[in-house]
Order: sequence, then C-alpha cells, then structure tokens
Amino acid sequence: MGQSVLQLDNEKMTKLINHYKAFKIIRNAPGVVFAAKLPDAAITAYKSGKVLFQGGGALREASLWGDGETQTAPLLSKPKGEVLPDRFSEMSVLGSDETGTGDFFGPVTVAACFVRADQIELVRELGVKDSKQLNDDLMRSIAPDLQATLVHSVLTLTNEKYNEVQAKGWSQGKIKALLHNQALKHVLRKLNGEKPDYILIDQFAERGIYYNHIKNQPEIVRENVLFSTKAEGLHVAVAAASIIARVAFLEEMDRLSEIAGVRLPKGAGKIVDEAAAKILLKSGEETLKSMTKWHFANAQKAKKIAAMKR
Ligand code: MG
Repeated sequence: MGQSVLQLDNEKMTKLINHYKAFKIIRNAPGVVFAAKLPDAAITAYKSGKVLFQGGGALREASLWGDGETQTAPLLSKPKGEVLPDRFSEMSVLGSDETGTGDFFGPVTVAACFVRADQIELVRELGVKDSKQLNDDLMRSIAPDLQATLVHSVLTLTNEKYNEVQAKGWSQGKIKALLHNQALKHVLRKLNGEKPDYILIDQFAERGIYYNHIKNQPEIVRENVLFSTKAEGLHVAVAAASIIARVAFLEEMDRLSEIAGVRLPKGAGKIVDEAAAKILLKSGEETLKSMTKWHFANAQKAKKIAAMKR
C-alpha cells in the first residue's frame, strides 16, 4: 500500500478540499479538517497543513499537489534486538517502555500502548516522534491526547513500594519485567479479544532473562512478543508508551516536589546529592527515603553532605 505525506499551505489546502469535495467523508478524528475516499486512495487533511494519502492510488494523487516524502518503514540496522518483520512500522502493535530507573528521585513508571495500523498516522499527527527528540514540556502537552485516543495502561511504582521490593532483593530488571508484563496484560484485557499483530518491548534484558524474571507470575504475556532496543524508533506504539510513561514520571515528580518543598532534580548527579542533603536536613531521613530509590549511592553521598552542614 502506498503512502505519502505532504505539507500544504492554506491556498493549496483550499484547492485540495475543493478538488475532492465530491468524495468527502466524515472523519471525526482529532486534528482532521477534511477527509475524502477515492476508489483507490484515502486522503486525510490535518489542521497542521499535513495531508496524508493512502492506498494504491496514493502516490498518483499526492503527485498532483507536490512531491511528498514517501514513507518507508524505518527498519534501521542500529537497534539491537530481534529481527522485525518487513513493514513492521505499519502494523498494529502493542508497545511498552519504562522510565525513571536511572533517577534517584521519583518512581519507576511503565506504560504499554496499542496503536492499530489505521491510527499510526493520527498518532504521528498528534506529535509522537522518537521520544529522544522530545523534551518534557512537549511530552506533557502530547500525552493527554494520546491517553484519550489510545488503549493503554500506565503503572507508577511509588518509591515506598520500590524500596520495599528492592530490600527484598528484587533487581531493577525484575521490577521492570514485572511491570511490563502487568501493563501489557492490562492492555490486552482492555482490547477485549482484538489482537495486535505484534507486541514490542523496548528491550532492557534479553528474552530469556526477561521471562525468567516473571516465571512465577500467574499470567505471562508471550504471544507474538518481540524485543528490541531503541524500539521507540521502530514503532509509534513504543514511542507513545514512552511518552505516557515519562509524563506519569513527571507528574509523580511534581507531587513529590510539592511535599519536599523544592523542585526535585532528575538523574543521579551532584545536583541530586545537594538537593537530597537539603531535604535530609529539613525533613529527615524517612521523608527523603519516601521519595528516592534509597539503594542508590546518592543516599550515602547526601548523608555525608548533610553531616558537614550540620
Ligand atoms: Mg526504554
């Protein structure tokens, strides 16, 4: 199936709408200003000026309006992981990703998100790109639309719970694997029998290790599961999951910042040690512990800094 995307100015957009008005159809998707269905091509125009042409006649119709970039599946050789089927990026995929594992402050969050083949262009239109190219503010602005549009599940493992299971000996790998499995399970349940072509997990562990972590779970998602690193660049479902997980992380950071009375810094660097030391002096160890991943080296560093300031 051909596919082409053009960016049109207002004048051309008006002409296009006029040209296809006999084929107009109603499409109530976010951002859509006009849609038409030809015998061999579907045309969708968005508020942003983007026009998507799909179907056998897509390239022919698009060529009437400009020379769009024809979209091909970005099957990069770079990501490490399993071989994905051809045209994977155009399939109906359930993707999952996590965030927060490297941050001393704040939770671990995992999201799983289903994008049906016919939603892919819409999801791109909503602003989903490889999340590495998006900043936090942009992600905050995109996430509500994604959550309203896509079947998803997002899990926030609070610091209290994280510290509790970590103290029991759970590795981060195990924590992540359990959360991914859980989130995927939730989405599959919500899909009510509708099956994704594939499930893609942004890889943090080899398949064997992943399944070993969750081997005692009553329900294990296995069917059509693929693993790859940099998966947010391989399908928008993972990119969307990554954004939703990130925003859940940021929201919990907002809540904890409120409690701490300072804006909690991300990461695990020196600023983090300093901020942690301040909270330690002001509110005590229990409070600090309740908002951090306590086993990180930052905890001891913060204690040292605080001791010098006392
Ligand atoms: Mg990831």
